[in-house]
Amino acid sequence: MDYQRLVDLFDALEQTSKRLKKTKLISDFLKTTPNESLEHVLLLLQGKVFPAWDRRVLGLSDKLLVKAIGMSSGASEKKIMDEWRNVGDIGKVAEVLIANKSQATLFSTPLTVATVFSSFQKVAAIEGLKSTDAKLKIVAGLLSDAKGVEARYVVRTVIHDLRIGVADGTLRDAIAWAFLFNEADINYDDEKIAIEPTDREEYNKVVGNAQAALDRSNDFYIVAKTAKEEKEIGLAKIPIAPGKPLKCMLAQKVIDFDEGFKKVGTPCAIEYKFDGFRMQVHKTKDDIKLFTRRLEDVTSQFPDIIKVIKEYISGTEFILDAEAVGYDPKTKKYRPFQDISQRIRRKYDIHILEEKLPVELALFDVLYYEGADFLNRPFEQRRKFLQGIVKETPQKAIIAPQLVTDNAKEAEDFYKESLEAGNEGVMLKKLDAPYQPGSRVGTMIKLKPTLDTFDLAIVGAEWGTGKRSGWLTSFTVACWDDMDQELKTIGKFGTGIKEKEESAEGDAITFEEITNMLKPNITGTKGREVLINPDIIVEVKFEEVQASPSYASGYALRFPRFVKIRDEQAPRKIGKPY
Ligand code: ATP
Repeated sequence: MDYQRLVDLFDALEQTSKRLKKTKLISDFLKTTPNESLEHVLLLLQGKVFPAWDRRVLGLSDKLLVKAIGMSSGASEKKIMDEWRNVGDIGKVAEVLIANKSQATLFSTPLTVATVFSSFQKVAAIEGLKSTDAKLKIVAGLLSDAKGVEARYVVRTVIHDLRIGVADGTLRDAIAWAFLFNEADINYDDEKIAIEPTDREEYNKVVGNAQAALDRSNDFYIVAKTAKEEKEIGLAKIPIAPGKPLKCMLAQKVIDFDEGFKKVGTPCAIEYKFDGFRMQVHKTKDDIKLFTRRLEDVTSQFPDIIKVIKEYISGTEFILDAEAVGYDPKTKKYRPFQDISQRIRRKYDIHILEEKLPVELALFDVLYYEGADFLNRPFEQRRKFLQGIVKETPQKAIIAPQLVTDNAKEAEDFYKESLEAGNEGVMLKKLDAPYQPGSRVGTMIKLKPTLDTFDLAIVGAEWGTGKRSGWLTSFTVACWDDMDQELKTIGKFGTGIKEKEESAEGDAITFEEITNMLKPNITGTKGREVLINPDIIVEVKFEEVQASPSYASGYALRFPRFVKIRDEQAPRKIGKPY
């Protein structure tokens, strides 16, 4: 397939911000994509050359990229850097320079998707002393053969910023539209950019099954190929396999046992909620791999855990779900996540960190063992199985301590015990529930005493009355919505702020101080209400986020309370409501 064809699609996607339009464009494209190009097309559409869980990277610095653009366009590196600064998009800079290049292009060969893809793979594979030159040669070669607009996307792929706005959900829907529905099932109206499925329930079910297949396989290509060849029936049969991470099952949240018991039913399992990081453990016949909750491969950061798996867990092939929990090497007491977070990122001096910040592997689930898929087995059975394969040894590998009960008093005592041991809280688990990859399920629940916090922008307030007159008192806060790229209101708070300087509430701010801080940012007044320019970011504690039509975000904070002003936080980098 000519790369130009894919690039025309990228360009059309860049021209529209409408999700359904993007879905239609991609699904039409996929329908006519030959089998041999399907995998490359799906990866390149995500701006990738490797699946998310593959550790390989292109490894091309900005400097090298600029050099490559220079070599293929004849422009000086200084000119390219200046233009990059002016335009803000190196892809566009390369496009213009290459379109205008003075050298003859007589010998250039048209780019195909396959050549672009294999060139990128070669770039990633080159290592060693001479690697810079070799990488440079390949990218410059690609750019020399590229037409202007092709150069735009080659360059953007290199810097991992494709700018075509295709979210995972759009790609999933496009695959479903292309291979699982007839046009009539969807009823896409290009004028209104809307769909009117003939059977909405069926439509949602099919899309849900495509999502479930993605959650299991984490691979758009496998899902697309299966949907194309075997339709919906095939999707459910996509096997999970050690070595290929699947999305983690996530928990919902409750504020007490009463609510928790109602959700998971009683008796239920209650476990320590460790304050570490999620670790999906994969063992194949000749390899062990560790993945984080976001399915990043962190195997090389944890040689200590690899040793523990070899020594304390029996079996040749398995997938286990666990938490890596830090402990103090002297007292052996658990340490909070923040204390050991360096262990995930650090790529050097790993053996030093291993000693300074040791971790214990706390296992809580088994998803696959010696060829058998455990996802649909009841939790109770999975847990029992786990007990049979782990040689429990403190500070090495343990199974999450568990209590099965329907008694609120026993549950509370276990909760206290967990907190005293340095954990975050407890998890409540439904005994007969399957493991649902990728879902925030109601069968696994978290309960922890600390309230959550968001960093939010103050966008409005109200003048107080009575003894609070002259002060701004009730504050409307907004969060950043990534999808719509704007601030959206999410709640109002008034508590957590002191009346007077000398009152006993620690170092909290007073109404007078926050009023003085906000006054210069007032942009409008309506009655007692004022609009405020969103310059001041505050940390707000709350108990829960609830769906609510009262605020523009569609959510409201339950029991919001001011914590502190976030001087160091930029307004755009604020919490999201979900
Ligand atoms: P939080 O920030 O509250 O940990 P989260 O958004 O990271 O939440 P959730 O799925 O909502 O993740 O909460 C569950 C997390 O708790 C799991 O991802 C896992 O890392 C951790 N955890 C600790 N102990 C257990 C346990 N016994 N069973 C399941 N998960 C556990």
